[in-house]
Amino acid sequence: MRICLFWHRRDLRIHDNAGLAAALASGLPVLPLFIYDADILTQLPERADARFTFIYDQVERLAAETAAAGGTFLARYGRPSEVLAQLAQEFDLAAVYTNEDYEPYARQRDAEVEALLRTRGIAFYRYKDQVIFAKGEIMTKSGTVPKVFGAYHKAYQGRLTDEQLHPYPSAVAITAGNLARLPSAPAGARPTLLDLGFERREQYVPTNELPPADVVRSYHRTRDTPANTKGTARISVQLRFGTLSVREVLSQARELNPKLMAEIIWRDFFMMLLWHFPNTASEAYDPRMRDIPYRNNEDEFRAWCEGRTGYPLVDAGMRELNATGYLPNRVRMTVAGFLVKHLFIDWRWGERYFADKLLDYEQASNVGNWQWMAGTGAVAAPWFRVYSPQSQLAQVDPQQEYVKRWVPEVGTPAYPAPIVEHSLGRERAVEAIRAARMQS
Ligand SMILES: Cc1cc2nc3c(=O)[nH]c(=O)nc-3n(C[C@H](O)[C@H](O)[C@H](O)COP(=O)(O)OP(=O)(O)OC[C@H]3O[C@@H](n4cnc5c(N)ncnc54)[C@H](O)[C@@H]3O)c2cc1C
Repeated sequence: MRICLFWHRRDLRIHDNAGLAAALASGLPVLPLFIYDADILTQLPERADARFTFIYDQVERLAAETAAAGGTFLARYGRPSEVLAQLAQEFDLAAVYTNEDYEPYARQRDAEVEALLRTRGIAFYRYKDQVIFAKGEIMTKSGTVPKVFGAYHKAYQGRLTDEQLHPYPSAVAITAGNLARLPSAPAGARPTLLDLGFERREQYVPTNELPPADVVRSYHRTRDTPANTKGTARISVQLRFGTLSVREVLSQARELNPKLMAEIIWRDFFMMLLWHFPNTASEAYDPRMRDIPYRNNEDEFRAWCEGRTGYPLVDAGMRELNATGYLPNRVRMTVAGFLVKHLFIDWRWGERYFADKLLDYEQASNVGNWQWMAGTGAVAAPWFRVYSPQSQLAQVDPQQEYVKRWVPEVGTPAYPAPIVEHSLGRERAVEAIRAARMQS
């Protein structure tokens, strides 16, 4: 039987899925697939990994939903190009459908897959799904890459139409009639978590549903109060893995809260920047900021990681991150600013630590925000701006409700003295960056 594959990657949902809708409309039976990528999984430091447990559970949910619609869902482990080469031998494949992925690793992987499929005469179709505007769709009037969020945001709003937010009909199109059903699922059709060498580790993730309307309506008032766990939309994990579609979250925000809508547009903005400047995943966008003589003190880095800096908001944030895999945006900014300025440690150390810990880790947003905080990015805070963690605390958690939740010993002799004095840290960083910029 001639079939096509639909390869799920960061779109772990059936509803409103551009690539899946296209595959289902192809007229060929569709075999949905997920590949547990050996290149990524072998690099994970822990066997009990909460993010991987989440992915595994979502794949199993997709498999159950596909079975309920009358089809078979395949999950395989290996290097994607090798898995696809193997599947091309097992099945009479006409095409592989998938959704675009803009990260540097993914682009390289997809180029390899495309070349392989071409040699076998199998088409490789990719669709825009995880953002509203991708790659070079929004440029400045003079044709350059937009690097000012305000202008990008305005152009984005100007081009946004109802049609772009319209859901793709994948959920209604998925029926036994257009899914491939293997007579008996081949042995190892889906590996278990244990087969993959992992143990369960669960951390709380909100449901795969849109945030409640009242949370969205009050977002602009509540977003900067970290003690309020319902103060933000809590959709970042769902957007990262595509259990919600960007079209549905943006539609809701467009209707109920322009501030939330703007924040979701930041995500598209950073993806666009990383697509144009893939080198910025590992180096400063600004060449004058590439040779900054960071101090990179390992003991201080460890104190930051473990929430022992003597700055309550920084420590509360790092402890929340370590315990839950989540951190509200305002606290992400505080801990990041403290690392890159007060401790004067390379932003890439912090970016890496966040990548290991955040359940919503997304390279474009993580790199973009870290470079913003370090003053090194295409879009960045001025390099000489150094936020005081104590002033931040007074603003966002004046009653220390959040801080005491995560650092109960604050205010007792058990709590450490500040690892660095604020003005000393600020002057040290500003002077070193000024000197490095003058030399380059
Ligand atoms: C140093 C640093 C690192 C970050 N790393 C990541 C990351 O790896 N993955 C990630 O998804 N977000 C990252 N962010 C952005 C932001 O902090 C999170 O998206 C947000 O806290 C997630 O919680 P929420 O869904 O409740 O957000 P809300 O405030 O409710 O916002 C809704 C959605 O808008 C988008 N968004 C909001 N703020 C930003 C922003 N500053 N940049 C890009 N998108 C944004 C996200 O998709 C978010 O889910 C980072 C921010 C900083 C300062």
